[in-house]
Amino acid sequence: MHSFVGVLFVGLAAVLLAAGPAQAGTRSLPPLFRESGALENPNFRFDARADDLNYRLPNNTLPIHYDVELTTNVHDGTKKFTGKVQIDVTIVEATTTLVLHKRQLNILSAKIESATSASEDLTISYEEEREFLTLTRKTNVNFEKDTEWKVTLEYEGELRTDNGGFYLSTYTDADGNERYLAITQFESTDARHAFPCYDEPNKRATFTITINHSPTYTAISNMPVDTSKTISGKTVFQKTVNMPTYLLAFIVSDFVYTEGVLNDTPQRIYSRPGTKNEQEWALVSGMLILERLAEYYNVDFALPKIDQAAIPDFAAGAMENWGLATYREEYMLYNKDTSTVTTQTNIASIIAHEYCHQWFGNYVAVHWWTYLWLKEGFATLFSYKAVDAAYPEWGVWQQFQTDDYQSALTNDASDYPRPMTHYVQKPSEIAMSYGTVTYAKAGSVLNMWNHALTDKVFQRGLHNYLDANQYSSAVEEQLFLAIQTAAKEENYEIPAKIEDMLGSWSRQGGYPLLTVTRNYNNGSFTVTQSSFHNNKNTVTQKSWYIPFNYAHQSNPDFRDTEASHYLLNVPSVRVDAKLDKEDWLILNKQSTGYYRINYDEENWKLIIDGLIKSPYKIHPRNRAQLMHDAYRFSASNRLAHSVLLDMMTYLPKEDQYAPWSTANGIINVYNRYLSGDAKYYDFQMFVAEIVTPIYEKLGINDVPGEHHYQKYTRNAVINMACLAGIQSCLTETKNKLKALVQHGTPIEANVQSQIYCNGLKQSGDDVFQYVFNQLMDSTDQAFRRVLISSLGCSQNEKQLKSYLESSIDKDNKLRNQERITILSPVYSRGSVGLMATIDFLDEHWDEYGNLNTGFGGTNPLNDALGGMSLYVVNTEQEKRLLALVDKVKSSEHVSSSLEASVKYNIQSNFDWLKSNRDPLINWFQSFNIKSGASAVISSSSMAISTLLLLVISRLF
Ligand SMILES: [Zn+2]
Repeated sequence: MHSFVGVLFVGLAAVLLAAGPAQAGTRSLPPLFRESGALENPNFRFDARADDLNYRLPNNTLPIHYDVELTTNVHDGTKKFTGKVQIDVTIVEATTTLVLHKRQLNILSAKIESATSASEDLTISYEEEREFLTLTRKTNVNFEKDTEWKVTLEYEGELRTDNGGFYLSTYTDADGNERYLAITQFESTDARHAFPCYDEPNKRATFTITINHSPTYTAISNMPVDTSKTISGKTVFQKTVNMPTYLLAFIVSDFVYTEGVLNDTPQRIYSRPGTKNEQEWALVSGMLILERLAEYYNVDFALPKIDQAAIPDFAAGAMENWGLATYREEYMLYNKDTSTVTTQTNIASIIAHEYCHQWFGNYVAVHWWTYLWLKEGFATLFSYKAVDAAYPEWGVWQQFQTDDYQSALTNDASDYPRPMTHYVQKPSEIAMSYGTVTYAKAGSVLNMWNHALTDKVFQRGLHNYLDANQYSSAVEEQLFLAIQTAAKEENYEIPAKIEDMLGSWSRQGGYPLLTVTRNYNNGSFTVTQSSFHNNKNTVTQKSWYIPFNYAHQSNPDFRDTEASHYLLNVPSVRVDAKLDKEDWLILNKQSTGYYRINYDEENWKLIIDGLIKSPYKIHPRNRAQLMHDAYRFSASNRLAHSVLLDMMTYLPKEDQYAPWSTANGIINVYNRYLSGDAKYYDFQMFVAEIVTPIYEKLGINDVPGEHHYQKYTRNAVINMACLAGIQSCLTETKNKLKALVQHGTPIEANVQSQIYCNGLKQSGDDVFQYVFNQLMDSTDQAFRRVLISSLGCSQNEKQLKSYLESSIDKDNKLRNQERITILSPVYSRGSVGLMATIDFLDEHWDEYGNLNTGFGGTNPLNDALGGMSLYVVNTEQEKRLLALVDKVKSSEHVSSSLEASVKYNIQSNFDWLKSNRDPLINWFQSFNIKSGASAVISSSSMAISTLLLLVISRLF
C-alpha cells in the first residue's frame, strides 16, 4: 500500500523537524508520506485495547479455496449488498469448531458438508473484540484430522462510506448527476468486511469471484473475466492463484478504459467517464515499469493481466491488489496540458511502488504484519529503482534523498525509535505500523546494502528470495539467507554473516552517528559509532555493522559506492588513508549509508572551504547531506551554528535540486521560529543574499522543456525569495495571480503552488473568493490539492475564518477526504492562521471531530491539535492552545495522551528558541554587516530590494 501525502505543504519543514516522543496524534499524521499519513490505513483505531487476548486465528483449520458471490445494486446508490461464500477447508487438527474473521456483516446461515457427509447446519457465535466468527458443529463430534469440508455462509452487509472494506464512492458526471461505484480496500484487515474469511496474510488460498450487478455496470477484479460463465449482469472471474485475502479486489462501476500490451501482458487503465484522455501516461509507465521489474528480479509477472484504476474516494495513496492496483485519481490521471511535472513523476513512482508489490508482498507475502517492512521497504526502494530503470534521464536519487532518506533520518531519532521488525497483533497495532520506519527507513536501509554489497549481489539475493518463497510468505531470516547465498554464488567476499549485518539494522530502532577524527600528522582517521538521537542527552547502548567508504579532495571520486570499510559491531576503526592535511575528507559517497556523520572542527572547515571554492567536486547528494547533518547537529548543540551557516554561504554557486531542497527545508524551519522575532529582518537579509543569484537565474515563470529538477528547484527558490521579501518576487507573484483573476491569463501548472500561495498572501477578498470558487468547481484532484494548500496562505483573518468553516459545511463540494486537509495549511503558515484555527475549533471542535469517525482514519481533531502544537512559538499562542485542549480533552475525539504530547511539542519549541535563537541572530547580523557593503557594490538592485522587503513583509 502506498501511504498518502498527508500534509505536503509542510513536508519540507517536517523533513527537518523531529517528532516528539508521543507519536500518536502529533507527528503521526505527519507521519505523512514523506512521513506517511494518518489516512493511509482505514483500519486505524485510536487507542490500543488493554487486554492480553491472542488475536491470531487458531491454526487447526486452513482455507484452500473460496467461492465468493456478491450481489450489489450500487448503480442506484444502494448500500446494501448480499453475499454467499463457500470455503473449502482442511482440518489440520481434530476440532469441533472453525474460527474465521468477519466485520460488520450479518450472517444469515452457516452450513458444512463434505464429499462423504451430508450438509449440516452450524451454530454461529461471534466475538466483537477479535472479530472472530466461530462455527461449531451441533453434534459436537470432531471434524477429523486431514479431512476436507466445504463451509457455506450466506450473509448481508452494507457498503461502507469511510473508504475501507467493500465501500461506496461517488463522482459527479458531465451532466451534473451523482454517479456511484463500489470498490474495495482490504489491507490490512478489511477483507473480512466483504466476506467471512481467514483474514491473515499467510493464510493463502485460491478464489473464484462472482459479482451480480446492474447490466449497465461492469465488474473487474484481480483476474480476467471467465467469459464462459459470464452473462449480462453477472460477471464471473477466472480462479486466482494462491494468494492472501487482503490482496483481493473488485470494482463495480461505469468506468471507461484504455488498453495496451507489452510482452504478452495486457494492461488496462480504468477511470470515470470523461477522463479517458488522462490515462495514457499511467498506461505507458505501467507497461515500462512492469517490464523493468520483471527483468531486474528475473521473475516473470505471475498473472495473465494487470489493471490499474483511479478511484474518486480513496483513503490510502494507492493499493497493490494483485492484478488490479487502485489509486487516488491524482496519482494516476495525467493531463498533458494542465497537470504538473510533479503529478507526472509521482504517478510513475507510485506505479513502481505498487508494481514492486506484485512481487514483494503478493508473489511472496509477509508471514505476519510484524514484517511489514519486507514489502513496504522494497516498494519504497523500487519506487525509485524501477523508475530509474524506466526513465534514467530523471536522476531520481536526489529525490529519494530529500523525500525518503532525510525524512527517515529525522524521524528515526526519537528517544525510543521502534525497530523495522516490530511485533504487532491487533488491527490497531497493525495500522500503526504504516509509518516512516516501515517505508522510508526500510527503503533507505535496503538501499544502503544494495550499494555496500554491490548491485550484482543484491539483485541475485532478491531473485533467490522471490524464487525460494514464491506463492508463500516469508520472515526476514529468509531474505538474509537469500542474500548470503547470492554472495556465495557471486564469489563476493563479505566480512560477516548477512543475518548479523542486516539484522543489526532491522532488529534495533534508530541509527548510528559516525564521529570522524583525523590525525593531521600521519594522514589517518578514526571512525567511532554511537547511537544517534535528536536529543543529545539521550544515550543508548547500541551497535551496528556499518559499511562505509570515503572521498577526499585529492581524489574527489564519488562514483564507486561499494563498501570499502566496515565497522563490524565494534566501537571504532582506524583507517590509514594517508590524507593530505590540506584535503577535505567526506565519508559516505553519494550519501547511500543510512547514518549521520560528524567531523572534527578542522575537517568541517576544510569542507566549507571546498564547498565555497569548488562545490562541484563534491557530489550533490553529499552537498545536501552535509547541510542536513550540520543542521541537526547545530540544533542539538553538537556543532556551532556558524558551521552550518558558513557552509550555506556556498549556495550562490549551487544549482542542483537536493541541496536547494535541503536548504529550503532549513530556511522554512528557521522562518517558523523567527517570523515573529524583532530581528526577523536580519534573517531575511541572509536568505536574500544566498538565494538571489539562483532566483534571478530561474525567475518565476515555467520554462517548457527544462529538466523537472529545474522546475522543483524553482518552486523552492520562489518560496525562499518571497519569504526573504525580495521585491520582484512579491510583485511578480501577486501580478501573475491578479492577471488570472482579472484577465483569465492562465498560470503555468508547474509554478501554480508558489504563485497562488505568495499571491494570496498579498491579495484582497476578490482574489481569495475567485480561488475558493476555483476549488469548488474543479474536478482535477491534484489541482484541488494545490488550491487547498494555497488558500491557507492568506494572512487575512476574515478570509481564513471563512475558509476554515468550509471544512464543516456539508453543502459545499469538498470531498470528505479533503475536509480534514483544510486546517493544516492554515495553522502552519504563521501566527494569523494559527490563531484563526484556534478560534475556529474553539467554536466548532465537536463538528470538526465528527468529520471522520469509526474506521475512517485517525480523528481529525486530535491530529489538528497535535499538529498546531508544532507551530506554537510564544506564550500567547501557548495559552490559547492549551485552553482549547483543556476544553476538548475529555471528548471521545481525542486520545488520552493528547495533552501531554501538545505540551511536549510546545516545550520543545521553546527549548529550540532558547538554544538557537541568539546564536542564529548574532550570526545573521555579523554576516549582513560583512556582506551588506559588498552587496551594494556588486548588486545594487539586490541591496535595494532587500531594504524594500522590510516594508512589504510587514504588510502580511
Ligand atoms: Zn506499499
